[in-house]
Amino acid sequence: MNPQAVVPHGFRPSRRVVPIRFMPASQQRSQAGHYAWWVRAVALVAFAWAFLGWLNDAWLYRFGTPIWLNRYTESALILAFGLWRIRAEKNPYTRKRLIILVINVTLFWWLIPWVWPFIEPHLGFLAGLPAFPSLHVPGTVTFFLVLAAVLLFGRRVICGWNCPCVGIRETVGFAFRHVDHVPRSARAWRLRHLKWFWFALYLGAMWAVTRPANNVTVGYLGFFAMIVVLPYFATLLLSPWIGNRSYCRFLCPYGATFGLLNKVGMFRIDYAAERCIQCGKCAKVCDMNIPVWEMGAANQGRVDTTECMGCGRCITECPTNSLAFRDVRNWLQPSLRQDREHLRQRVDWSLGIVRWRFAGYLLLMAGVLTGAIHYSGQVGTWGELPARLGAICGLPTLSW
Ligand code: SF4
Ligand code: SF4
Ligand code: SF4
Repeated sequence: MNPQAVVPHGFRPSRRVVPIRFMPASQQRSQAGHYAWWVRAVALVAFAWAFLGWLNDAWLYRFGTPIWLNRYTESALILAFGLWRIRAEKNPYTRKRLIILVINVTLFWWLIPWVWPFIEPHLGFLAGLPAFPSLHVPGTVTFFLVLAAVLLFGRRVICGWNCPCVGIRETVGFAFRHVDHVPRSARAWRLRHLKWFWFALYLGAMWAVTRPANNVTVGYLGFFAMIVVLPYFATLLLSPWIGNRSYCRFLCPYGATFGLLNKVGMFRIDYAAERCIQCGKCAKVCDMNIPVWEMGAANQGRVDTTECMGCGRCITECPTNSLAFRDVRNWLQPSLRQDREHLRQRVDWSLGIVRWRFAGYLLLMAGVLTGAIHYSGQVGTWGELPARLGAICGLPTLSW
């Protein structure tokens, strides 16, 4: 047992950890290592570029649809930096998660809505929103599917694998994940409650989309978009001082929504006190500043919190295998233990279950896409696709 460890008294983030410089090189990625000043400068330029892209698309409209300066600039940056991060990542589970994350962001937040901006069916009204950003749009069919998935598998469905916010922060922003720059004080832990203010505003947005379009509802949704997007980019640009996950920790209304489902759904982390040596590494690698082992010790082995985004770092870095995910799969297969060994396994394509899982994922995505296409038809149709592709490629007209 670590001689510095003490019996927990409340949920205070632990500071009793091994200093980063003593961590083995093979773990430095999960622990967040030091990056040269120029890497951080490049990352800051990329953040500014993503922000300018959004500004141009939202307010200026000076450059049409070029990928280098519109709302999809962010997705292109995630892909570019994502390839670097996937190659550099040493933790096998994080590498798997990054691959899925980069593919999802590239497909669902960039290529499909950019090439084919159909409107997904929704309750109430919304202006022409492309299909897959509706992962975050209250009232859309996809959004309800996401809520159901979060209930079964936890917040990681979106906050780990599917959100451009986590995408840009875990790829471009990784250089700012250094432990010295991530607020980990008890005050920072209390600040997590700030997001409930944004959540209250979000409830107003849910109400607005189900009402007829009028000055009040349209005005409120515009205000809500600003109050979400501007802090989103502001926290990117402040990353050198406040770390790379401040938006998710303190301000995201969607994170609050998914967090509530985390709490009432089937997801949690199991903590085995008898194995734990209280080294504090689980808390040290947690971007959400969750005092993992302390919370588990105080809650009879359950780490069950609205904050956990399910990145799995605490589990895969625990040296004694004391932590394990629990979700709907454990209800279906009680002997399953989603611990460090389980998560760190390499994907074995020779296993039937792996291939079936992949086929199921493709089938689900195809179903969502087909349903959206079938019910939409308001902006993008099969017939408009070639013309849209031609416009993106800079061709004056192209149709079949
Ligand atoms: S907390 Fe919000 S911004 Fe962060 S990953 Fe989750 S949904 Fe995305
Ligand atoms: S749960 Fe694992 S990582 Fe966390 S303090 Fe215990 S032994 Fe260390
Ligand atoms: S508690 Fe573990 S899985 Fe949850 S956010 Fe923290 S490190 Fe990730």
